[in-house]
Order: sequence, then C-alpha cells, then structure tokens
Amino acid sequence: MSFADKVVIVTGASSGIGAAVGIKFAEEGANVALVARNKVKLKEVVAKCEKHGGKVLVLIADVTKNEDVKKIIEQTIKQFGKIDILVNNAGIIRKAAVWDENAIDVFDSVMTTNLRSVVHLTNLAAQHLIQTKGNVVNVSSIAAVDAMSPEYFAYCTSKAGLDQFMRSAALEFSPKGVRINSVNPGPVRTDFEQNLGVNKSEADSFWDKTKNWTTLDRISEPEEIADLILFLASDKARSVTGSSYVIDNGCLLKRPYNI
Ligand code: NDP
Repeated sequence: MSFADKVVIVTGASSGIGAAVGIKFAEEGANVALVARNKVKLKEVVAKCEKHGGKVLVLIADVTKNEDVKKIIEQTIKQFGKIDILVNNAGIIRKAAVWDENAIDVFDSVMTTNLRSVVHLTNLAAQHLIQTKGNVVNVSSIAAVDAMSPEYFAYCTSKAGLDQFMRSAALEFSPKGVRINSVNPGPVRTDFEQNLGVNKSEADSFWDKTKNWTTLDRISEPEEIADLILFLASDKARSVTGSSYVIDNGCLLKRPYNI
C-alpha cells in the first residue's frame, strides 16, 4: 500500500487517531499536511513523520474558522501542488442534555467542528480531488447509529449528519472519479477525554471500563483505526464509495444487551 508521491491532508493530527494516520501515511511515503491548533503536540508528530523521509507541512489551524480552512487548502497546494487524499478527522465531544441552558452553545460548537468544517474542507478541496481522482475518508463514530448515553445528543447528531453528508457527497463525486467513505470507530484509547478537561487517571479508568462494552473484550488503539483509513484511501479500495466502516470490537453487537 505505497502512497509514494501522494499528498494527504489530515485534520486533528496533533493526537490520537489523526496523529497515527499522519505517521502511517508518512511511513508509506506520502507527503503529509498535518492540521491542528496545538503547536507543541503537532511538533512531536511532525518529528515522527519526518523520520520516514516524506515531506511534512505543518498547518496550525482551527477547522471551525473560515479563513483557516482556506489557508489549509491554499498552503497545501502552494507547497505540494495537488491534493490526493483528505482525511477529515478533527472532532470534539461535549456533554449537555437537550433541555440544559447551554445546549445550543454545545450543539453549535460540536456541529461546527465535527460537521461544518468537513463540509467546508471538502467543498474547497473538491476541484483538486477531481483533478487527481483522489478520495476522502471521514472519521465518524458508532455514535452515528447509536444514541450512546444521555447528554450526548450533539455528538451523535453531528456524526449521523457526517455520514449522511458522506453518502450525498459520494453520489455527487462518483461521476468525477472521486471516492468518499467513513470509518465509524467504537472506543479508541486516545486523548479524547483529556482534551475535554478530564484528568489522566479518570480518563484511563474510563477507557478501561469501555472494554466491557465490547464482545471482543478490548478497545482499539489509534493505529488500528489508521490501518483501516489507509486501506480505504488506497487503490485496493477502488470499488468502495459511500460506505461507513464500523470498527468497534463488537460494541454495536453488545450494545442493545448491556444497557
Ligand atoms: P483526540 O482528542 O486525541 O484528537 C482530536 C484531534 O482533533 C486533536 O488533534 C485536536 O487537535 C483536533 N481538533 C479538535 N478541534 C479542532 C479544531 N477546531 N481545529 C483543528 N483541530 C481540532 O481524539 P481522537 O483521536 O479520539 O478523535 C479523533 C476523531 O475520532 C474525532 O472525530 C472523534 O469524534 C473520533 N472518534 C473517536 C473515538 C474514541 O473513542 N477516541 C471513537 C469514535 C470516533 P488540537 O486540539 O491541537 O487542535
């Protein structure tokens, strides 16, 4: 699965799944544009990518800001001249019940990060992807099909919207030779909880507990999600478009029986 000379944009590349995706693409010879807001964390990922010899473009950007989204596409084209693969991975989770006072603020921030930014980036990358007959992989969640637990309506709605956007865009892109798919992970051990402000020991015990939600009695590591993303982005998946790939250690299988 060589990606030599391919140009890949990865959003949310400073930690977790996005970092693993950036590093794996670099290992496979791609030139990678790594997007995130946290410069310090992004630098650590850049160092790991550069070890493999591919070129790395660092883009300190907030995907919720229009001018930053434009900058991501413009600077990638300026540096590398094309875009082959767009991995829309940046995402956040925030808790609020539908009737809470802050519900609309939570809804707006989650939808803007998890869905609007993906629509915007795909919109601006479209002509470049059409030129290369490239493809898009979105990082969704099993929350797109399952209501998870109370007070996560904003996250679940954003991921369900993301999957429907993916299918609609796949329909539009198909005649142009561009594919678009999503991966839908169950629990993955990342900084997702800590990035929400939860302390490390609480986050560790949360992830340990989540393995009880699965039939395989384990949760995924970011690299396992990255492997599936690289497969979908590769020519081996040339017949795949408009599809959501659940990767959850059997979480959805067990879900109806353990709540
Ligand atoms: P992390 O919190 O480790 O990573 C999230 C990444 O998104 C960070 O690199 C963060 O970078 C970036 N990000 C967040 N907001 C913005 C923004 N406004 N602009 C630019 N970058 C942003 O979590 P994960 O790796 O777990 O999450 C990655 C994706 O996987 C998300 O879409 C999440 O919904 C999805 N997912 C995760 C699961 C899990 O169990 N971990 C399960 C199912 C899906 P920075 O803060 O530097 O900007």
